[in-house]
Amino acid sequence: MTIHAPAGLGAPPDRVQAPEEGRRRVPEGPVKVVHAFWMAGMSCDGCSIAATGATNPKVEDLLAGIIPGLPKVVLHHPVLAEEVGEDFIHPFKLAEEGKLDAPYVCIYEGSIADERIAAEHGGYFSAMGMQAMEDSDEEEGGTPFSTAERMGRMAPGAAAVIAIGTCATWGGIPAAAGNPTGAMSLMDFLGKDYRSALGLPVINIPGCAPIGDNFTETVAAILLFLQGIGPLPEFDELGRPAWLFEETVHRGCTRAGYYEEGIFAENFGDKECLVEVGCWGPVVNCNIVSRGAQSHMGGCMAAGGPCIGCTMPGFPDKFAPFYTAPPGSAVSSTASRTLGFGIRRLRALSNHDRNREVRWDAVAGGEVPSGWGEIEKPGLLDKTMHFFYEKLQFSGNKRKPGRDDSRKYFADMPPRAEGMQAPRDADETAERG
Ligand code: SF4
Ligand code: SF4
Repeated sequence: MTIHAPAGLGAPPDRVQAPEEGRRRVPEGPVKVVHAFWMAGMSCDGCSIAATGATNPKVEDLLAGIIPGLPKVVLHHPVLAEEVGEDFIHPFKLAEEGKLDAPYVCIYEGSIADERIAAEHGGYFSAMGMQAMEDSDEEEGGTPFSTAERMGRMAPGAAAVIAIGTCATWGGIPAAAGNPTGAMSLMDFLGKDYRSALGLPVINIPGCAPIGDNFTETVAAILLFLQGIGPLPEFDELGRPAWLFEETVHRGCTRAGYYEEGIFAENFGDKECLVEVGCWGPVVNCNIVSRGAQSHMGGCMAAGGPCIGCTMPGFPDKFAPFYTAPPGSAVSSTASRTLGFGIRRLRALSNHDRNREVRWDAVAGGEVPSGWGEIEKPGLLDKTMHFFYEKLQFSGNKRKPGRDDSRKYFADMPPRAEGMQAPRDADETAERG
């Protein structure tokens, strides 16, 4: 199998030859250890920070192998590893040569640059280790080993290849308009025909930065599958974990009620819907509103920020400029405003009515015994509307509106302050005693 990037995407010069079938290590049945090789291309390391902050499950729990049913994960991460130099690079080389004693997954953070551009000037964009360290007897020097090429060599033998973060999944900010590096996603780099040793295309977990839990949860799901005790997790047509990315931000947003009622923030920091200050949430697939940024807390809208579409393949160019309303929102927010105007008033009436005990309506014509403030009695319009509203509410029910019995009971009751001292209560207590 030959791995190549599609024409026109600025693929690196050398096609990467996959190891022959016999070198692949496809896990058979439960395994005790799985290696995870983390590589970084054009990245800010935000994905590493997000992943290490995950809580469900925690990276530490995966590494310690304490999650029931899951194998222990041995992480080879350029920042977190204790080993340095040749000691750190050696397991990568074993994996590439098919000599590792356990299955492995590859994780790539950051986009992949066209190293040919850098090479023209005698440099490189992203590298890890030196070619001389692996391919010659030289003790020093040699050529930096680009992480893209390393991934190209290791990908065919990996049980799964995971692109973490929007740079690795779709190119992200390094691939934005005007970038001089030819940056691209891992999916574009490996090509449409790429399959891992388990037959999987690249798994994409986007986000800038991604939600750490999205990553660890997907890893855990894949490991359960490797162990033969879980189904193959469901991925969408772009390789995203389907259960995490099928909904739009807007559907779960805590501000969606404001949108529905046509109330919009005018400034950042306002509590209402942020669509008119640049929120793309209605058309963006992301679960931060339900998952939170970390420990089920925070997230863009919770922190007052509009959605700029950072999980999407079109990010950032198709969502810029970030500080203006999406053009399509002019139609939907105008419709919300128009409809919301009427809906809001009707809801305010119902809200006002539901903030009253049934007893208050039944006794003294609706007077509320609140010591905190004066509460208006329902007017004729309120009463008329609720008469019809109750008709609707109880239509098709055996029970009729009005609750006659309970109203009568309430009406017979003395006010509490008086009732506490009432002789009738005292007599009854004595009789019962
Ligand atoms: S802030 Fe964005 S995601 Fe939330 S309700 Fe408004 S448009 Fe939808
Ligand atoms: S809500 Fe929007 S900006 Fe925030 S993480 Fe999700 S996709 Fe990115």
